[in-house]
Amino acid sequence: MAKILLIEDEQMIQELVTFNLTREGYEVIVAGDGKKGLEMVYTEHPDLILLDVMLPEIDGYEVCKAVRANNESTNLPIIMLSARDEVADIIIGIELGADDYLTKPFSNRELIARIKARFREGKRNIKEDKKESISWGDLELWPESYIAAVAGENMDLTVKEFELLRIFLSHPNQVFSREYLMQKVWGYETSADTRTVDVHISNLRNKLKALGPVIDSVRGIGYRFSSTQFLKN
Ligand code: CA
Repeated sequence: MAKILLIEDEQMIQELVTFNLTREGYEVIVAGDGKKGLEMVYTEHPDLILLDVMLPEIDGYEVCKAVRANNESTNLPIIMLSARDEVADIIIGIELGADDYLTKPFSNRELIARIKARFREGKRNIKEDKKESISWGDLELWPESYIAAVAGENMDLTVKEFELLRIFLSHPNQVFSREYLMQKVWGYETSADTRTVDVHISNLRNKLKALGPVIDSVRGIGYRFSSTQFLKN
């Protein structure tokens, strides 16, 4: 049975996560502040850490840094729990060595999907494509650092928008169903509420306005990152 250390000061989240993960078959141990959490990493030897960012004593970023700096825990999977869906916040966590992040409020299904994905990946491997970017015309993405730029100018994207764009840019001209995008970006197994996808696509289109209409709607199916720009050039 995998042991999960939840470092979180909000009692409601402590209770909810403990209840849900225990029901799923995990052993859950809880620390209410960063200092206690960091101690428990070495006294309890968890298999994964769920780490809130805003914490009493030592904040989540500092805990993450300390866990990565210690040989004993350097490969321990860490999923950050962030209160804001802001790329800037996530970048800090990822740069400090977090493996994944969830923005509050998150669903139980999403949480479990992310935990399972961590365990599937197994031993944390150093990613080789760290500095690689994906580009398309003037648009460039650096997946490892969550930076997107148009003609060298940084874009202000949310994490979900960034992930949608990453999928599109990795496969230009391919049509993706709403369900597929939902599963890839939000981690849901089923097509619960695919309108969420539409809303995010609409926001993304607005932010990509300078490039022209680059995201096509494919009726009855989903979306495609278009090649029209290529044809025009
Ligand atoms: Ca907190």
